[in-house]
Amino acid sequence: MTTASLNTQCKFSLRVNGCTTFPKISYPTHPGIYNTLETEQHVFHFNLNNEIIRAKGKDKNWRHPHEWFKRTMGNDWVYYSTGGYTGVFEATGEYYLPNFNYSSNNIIGGNPFKAKEISGFADDWFTFLQAAANAELYAPAERSFLYEVLLNNPTRLQAKAQLLHNIIGGQVSVLPPDARHVGYNLIPVTISRGCLYKCRFCSVKNNHPFTELPLTDIDQQIEELRRLYSNDLINYNAIYLGEHDALNAAPGTILHSIHKSYNRFGLYDSYLEGVSCFFFGSATSILEAPEQLFFELNQIPGMVYINIGLESPNQTTLDQLGKPITSAQVWDAFKRIQSLNRAYTHLEISVNFIMDENLPAAHYREVEQLIRDTEFFQQAKGTVYFSPLSFDKPSRSRMFEFNRLKLMSRFPTFLYIIQRL
Ligand code: SF4
Repeated sequence: MTTASLNTQCKFSLRVNGCTTFPKISYPTHPGIYNTLETEQHVFHFNLNNEIIRAKGKDKNWRHPHEWFKRTMGNDWVYYSTGGYTGVFEATGEYYLPNFNYSSNNIIGGNPFKAKEISGFADDWFTFLQAAANAELYAPAERSFLYEVLLNNPTRLQAKAQLLHNIIGGQVSVLPPDARHVGYNLIPVTISRGCLYKCRFCSVKNNHPFTELPLTDIDQQIEELRRLYSNDLINYNAIYLGEHDALNAAPGTILHSIHKSYNRFGLYDSYLEGVSCFFFGSATSILEAPEQLFFELNQIPGMVYINIGLESPNQTTLDQLGKPITSAQVWDAFKRIQSLNRAYTHLEISVNFIMDENLPAAHYREVEQLIRDTEFFQQAKGTVYFSPLSFDKPSRSRMFEFNRLKLMSRFPTFLYIIQRL
């Protein structure tokens, strides 16, 4: 921290050294290096480009002192609630509950955006900041910080989010659930578009047939992202390789993209400890990927997380979902995934299954066979995520069903909350 002052209006702290990890603890921590500005009513945090990244209210109307707003690079405000600390960690693997002001499959928690002080803040934060920030009162370093903070107004932040989406070819409709390990704080690089199956049930797909991007396009993206994230690159230690089935790209493309991104973004010199890469795969791509790819991914410092959407091991359910794969592929994919998880310590491959009230009983019966009967002992890796089919419908009975599956599972088991970027 280089500067701190207090006067009648604002208190500043510039270049605060926050934590260097994303610890799973029951009170909020703030990873990275950031700047803060505190008024009588609010605390605002800014990244090293002086763009707002977090905020919370200080008065009694704020829902809970541990609850914060976080703004993503896609310019979404996400409200991190504690969920009353009842069952949140068991359900999500984290002590916070992200709440979105867009449609998601979240089945726990209420809707904090219905509260006036929450939705009002997401709309009015810049007005609060302008009202408090009278630059005349401050020292030169603080004045210049304030000047830049006020330049980064909502219009400019939205334009920057648009630029991010232009560079990577569109908004990321869903991030892998494993991205929770870095608080969803990652740099997206698109290496392929679309997916193989275009399943009927899926609400995050697009119309692109699966296409791999040329290396020249990927390299250009990386250079443009480097300029976009600029001074704040030091606060990143993770990338996401998009879109929906990056594992289906050629091994050379995957490895090139990881190495190039890590080096050009300077992730090995990040303020944050460790380096991670996240991407999606499918039953087809996990079955067809050569063993050598996993061997080489395992040689890369840090962790590589691959998330595979299997949805159901039951053929009737797959047909009902409109997912054009066979139950045999799902069983084979699950077995290969767990054998890869055992073989490679720097790799975790997680899987997703669907849950909903109206699925055939055989779906749950066969899911139970996979997550309970394929292993004798509790596993540390190979996380199983359950994704509720219907959106925005908190439901006690679905939570009950999830808890039942979690109790019998021999793998870490959590809910998959759909978050975009
Ligand atoms: S579930 Fe996966 S494979 Fe199926 S349509 Fe959605 S993104 Fe594509």
